[in-house]
Amino acid sequence: MSLDSVRESISEEERAAGRAAGSVTLIAVSKVQPVERVVATLQQGHRVYGENRVQEAAEKWPSLREQFDGVELHLLGPLQSNKTRQAMELFDVIHTVDRPKIARTIARIADEIGRCPELFVQVNTGEEPQKAGVTPDDVGALISECRDLGLPVIGLMCIPPVEEEAALHFALLKKLAQRNGLEGLSMGMSGDYGKAIRQGATHVRVGSAIFGEREPQG
Ligand SMILES: *Cc1c(COP(=O)(O)O)cnc(C)c1O
Repeated sequence: MSLDSVRESISEEERAAGRAAGSVTLIAVSKVQPVERVVATLQQGHRVYGENRVQEAAEKWPSLREQFDGVELHLLGPLQSNKTRQAMELFDVIHTVDRPKIARTIARIADEIGRCPELFVQVNTGEEPQKAGVTPDDVGALISECRDLGLPVIGLMCIPPVEEEAALHFALLKKLAQRNGLEGLSMGMSGDYGKAIRQGATHVRVGSAIFGEREPQG
C-alpha cells in the first residue's frame, strides 16, 4: 500500500457511499515511522498527520513544520493532565477528550494561551475496561460540560474492540453524534476505513496502509 493507493480507495468509497468527493479527511498516522517515510508523503503534498504521543510529536514535528507549510497535526493518543499544555501548543486537533477533568484543564489553558485546538470526544463504544474513552451512557453529559466551558467540540472518535464487528461500533458512534448535534466522526483505521466511510466517517486515521508496518511499540 501507499499514500496514493489509500487516497484512491478513499475516493472510491466516497463515490460508492454517495458522498461528496473530499468529504473524508485522511489523517496519515505517522507514529513510530522512520522520518524518511513521513517526509516522502509530505513531498507528495500530504499535510494532515496523526500522532499518539505528545513527546514523540514534540521531537519530530517542529522541524518538519519548518520545512513544510500548512501541516495540520492531530493527537490520537491518550491525553494526560500534565501534558495538556504541550499538547495544545503542538496539535491543531485533539481526538481524545474523555473526561470532565481534562475538559476543564483544556478550558483553563485555552484561556491562558488564547487559542484552543478543535476537539473530538473519545467514546469507548465497546465499554472495554482497559480502553480510554467515555462510555456511551456518559457521552451526552461530557459534551454538555464541554459546551458549557466554551470548548470547540466538533465530533466523536472511537477505536472498536479488535474482536468485534467494527461496523456496529461505527453505527453506534454515528447515532451518538447525531443525538448530540455533532458532525465529525473520527473512525476507521488501515483495516476498516472503507467500512467507516460507508458509515459516515469524516476523518479516517490510517497508518500502516500508508507507511508500512510499524516497529512494535515498547
Ligand atoms: C495507530 C493508530 C491508528 C492507525 O492504525 P493503523 O492500523 O496503522 O492504520 C489509528 N488510530 C489510532 C488511535 C491509533 O493509535
